[in-house]
Order: sequence, then C-alpha cells, then structure tokens
Amino acid sequence: QEDLFKNVVSHAKEYGFIFPSSEIYDGLSAVYDYAQNGAELKKNIREYWWKSMVQMHENIVGIDSAIFMHPTTWKASGHVDAFNDPLIDNKDSKKRYRADVLIEDYAEKINQKAQKEIEKARTRFGEAFNEQEFITTNTRVVEYLAKKKEILERMARSLETENLADVKALIEELEIADPETGSKNWTDVRQFNLMFGTKLGAEAATAMDLYLRPETAQGIFVNFLNVQKTGRMKIPFGIAQTGKAFRNEIVARQFIFRMREFEQMEMQFFVRPGEEMQYYEYWKETRLKWHLSLGLGRENYRFHDHEKLAHYANAASDIEFNFPFGFKELEGIHSRTDFDLKAHEQHSGKKLQYFDTEENRNYTPYVVETSVGLDRMFLAVFSNSLKEETLEDGSVRTVLKLPSVLAPTKAAVLPLVKKDGLPDVARAIIEDLKWDFNVAYDEKDAVGRRYRRQDALGTPFCITVDHQTLEDQTVTIRHRDTMAQDRVKISDLRGIINEEVSI
Ligand code: ATP
Repeated sequence: QEDLFKNVVSHAKEYGFIFPSSEIYDGLSAVYDYAQNGAELKKNIREYWWKSMVQMHENIVGIDSAIFMHPTTWKASGHVDAFNDPLIDNKDSKKRYRADVLIEDYAEKINQKAQKEIEKARTRFGEAFNEQEFITTNTRVVEYLAKKKEILERMARSLETENLADVKALIEELEIADPETGSKNWTDVRQFNLMFGTKLGAEAATAMDLYLRPETAQGIFVNFLNVQKTGRMKIPFGIAQTGKAFRNEIVARQFIFRMREFEQMEMQFFVRPGEEMQYYEYWKETRLKWHLSLGLGRENYRFHDHEKLAHYANAASDIEFNFPFGFKELEGIHSRTDFDLKAHEQHSGKKLQYFDTEENRNYTPYVVETSVGLDRMFLAVFSNSLKEETLEDGSVRTVLKLPSVLAPTKAAVLPLVKKDGLPDVARAIIEDLKWDFNVAYDEKDAVGRRYRRQDALGTPFCITVDHQTLEDQTVTIRHRDTMAQDRVKISDLRGIINEEVSI
C-alpha cells in the first residue's frame, strides 16, 4: 500500500498531473499545482459533479461567490471562535500533531489488533467461524474494542468541553498502555485557529482584517435570500457552488489529501423545519450513488456516522473512501439545522426567512449540506485507477484506468509512420473530432511505445492511421483497458468515442 502511494505521487508528477507548488524554490508545504493533464482531470470531475447536482436537478441552482467575505461572516458562522484544531508537540521528536488525529490513530491501532485476533480465529475455525459471536465472547477482542470505544468517547467529551489537559492525559495513558510506542515527552495541548488572515485596504490604520474563506458554504448562506427571490425558488431547493477554500492545517501531509489551499464542491439544501432528517437520508444515499456511478468499486466506500457533532449540526455522516493509506473522509453530509441562517440574521440584523405559500407562514429554513473535496476526489479517482498489469508476454504495462468520462484526453490519433501522407490524414481526423472531444496527436516513437504512453495518461482510445486508411477510409481503434483493436470507418469514430465517454 505504501508503494502504491509512492507510485501515485511519482506518476502524477512524471505524467504532468500534479507538481509541487513553486518547485524551483523547493516547493511550499502542502500546496500543489495541477499540471496540463491534472487540470483537465480536475475540471472533468468538477463538471461531472456540477452536471449531476445542478443540471440534473430542477430545484438546485449554482452560484460562484467571492473568496473574500465581510469579516462578520466568520464571527456569525462560529469560525472565529470555534474553527480550531487541538495542537500538541512532541518535545523529543520535535514533531507536531493534531491531538484528535493522534488519539484516533491510536484507537485505529487497537482496532487493528482486534482484527488480527479475529483473522487468526477465522483461519483456526474455518467454516464454523462466527464473527459476531467471537467479537462478543472472546475476552481479548472484547477488551480491545471496549478500550477503543472508551477512548473515543472520552476524547469527544474532553474536546467538546475544551478540557485540553484531559486530552493530553489520554494521549499519555495510551502510550503507557502501548509498550511499542512508550511514553513520550509532550507539550500541553492548545487550540489553533485554522483560518488564514489577510488585510483589505492600503493604510495600516484603516485596513480591515479579512479571512480567506475556510469553506465555500458561507457564500451560499449570505446569498440565500438573493437567490431565493431572484430565482423564485420554492422550498425544498438547493444552492451549489465549487471553489477554493483555505485552511492553515497543522499537519498537512498525504499529498493532495490535506492541503492548505484546496477546492470544495458544496451544496446547501434548504428544507422545512422538521423535514431535515428525511432529506439528510436522501442526500446520503444520492451522494453515495454518485460516487458509485464512477465504477471504482462498492467495497471502497463506507459511511461513517458521527457521534461527535460540530456546533451547527444535528446529524452528520462522512462518505469514506479506501485511499492508498486506508479509509478516510472524502465527503461530508451534514444536517446543519437553521444555525447558519439564524446566526447571520442576528449578526446582520437582516431577516433571512422564507415565506412558505403552502403553509402560509414565515420561517427560517433548515439546511442539509453535501460537501466534497475536489482534490480528494482527484486523489480517490487517480489512485484507484493506477494499475500495473503483467501481460501475456511477461512485460508489465502501467495503465491509468480512469473512468472514461473523466479522462483528460479522450483519444490520441497516431499516424503509423511520419510519411506517405499519413500525418495529414491523422491531422484531418483531429480537426474533425476536436469540436467534441479533447484529442491528442502523437507521431514520435514506435506505435507500441505511443500506446503505452497514452495508457499511462488514461486516454481511453488510440486511433491509428496506416496505409490501408488511404485506400478504404478505415482506421484501427485500440481500447485502453482491453487493448483490443478494431478496424472501423473514420466516419464512425465520433459515435464510438461518444458512447464510451458520455455520462
Ligand atoms: P478533515 O476531518 O479531513 O479535516 P473536515 O471534516 O474538516 O475534514 P469539512 O469541513 O467537512 O472537512 O470539509 C468538507 C470536505 O472538504 C471534506 O470532506 C474534504 O473532502 C474537503 N477538505 C477539507 N479540508 C481539506 C484539506 N485541507 N485539503 C483538501 N480537502 C479538504
């Protein structure tokens, strides 16, 4: 798994998907640039999301609000006071951690130990093994799991009550209990606000302190009435947007999984108070279906329902994906109640209510939010698609089996040789296809090498022009995943590609 992750990072760089930011100056921690192929893949994911959320839903519209917002926005939303992560340093190793992540990592270790016991027993008992019975009766497993539950519950309580001394004590307790890690030398736990500050205005004395938005959602909330009125939207309805968000993450690692500048795709769905749970369930299911439609495998997704809720939520669940480093959050579905609209109403003094003509009354709508990281989607799709295949002749090919709808380039057109007029025919095919698809031209190296290059870029089709093409207007079309080749008419290419790459 570690190897796979290393391959993902190096493949992304070598094939022009992702570069470290300002690399000539040795990069900038947890900031990345999308390169020529990465930008296409990212754009295609964004469009795939936008189409399914906005274009396909009559009652959802999309906006594009500014990154800069009035500073009171972040006071109202709770971000100034509560958008903190608990920070702890290890004095020996000089490493910095998020205390909650550290505790979760330990809890995961306990879980893994329990899993090992279960697997051992499964091999021992074979067919007769009953996992459920084993989990509830085997004392070691019961102990491990009870410990995990207890730690997480105590952590949730301590974090909620901001009892940071207890959080530190929990970490120490766990380390003492686990002889492999041993006790270490920790600093106190302290809260660290994740928002980036900046200034608006030239004069230091009059300049206004601003924040770079840490989520796109607030741009939707403050525009709620503007959109509802001008779009004559009737509840239930949604407002969607994609855009950059910024967080000064304490521990930014795992490539584009956790970045300081990243992109979100969010949708706020406004509903009648009391009806939020039914829409929460609806969006959980609908968003999972969206992920599954990409064909990365049902087994790679799971829900994680939150026990500990953010200050604005009455229910929350993550869709987790099996990344190269294990199951981690990909998307959050949150029932945010009327917290945000009420808070903005209070802080702005402007009414943010909806008049329900069916019920003939005013109220503050409840909100169900779906929030997915575009960069995390990119990592999920990219890492899951990268395969090394051993072919019949024993050679190994690297192929990026991207969902065709997301592939940066849909087809590469390759003249078999650089003479006899074949490049001209290839160019003519491109001139025709480029109106509908991103297509590439490649004439360098032997055709086999060119196929491999396109495999590594995730291009679903290679179209080869040879001497027979000059006689009968047919070409060879090669399929990335099966490597099967068919002889087809040039005039049929558009239809064949379209069938494969359209949603
Ligand atoms: P995490 O627990 O991983 O920090 P979060 O619960 O803070 O994430 P949300 O505030 O719910 O995340 O944001 C919604 C989505 O935005 C997440 O599911 C994730 O896909 C994405 N996201 C959040 N923080 C980052 C980041 N630093 N880098 C990349 N994507 C992020």
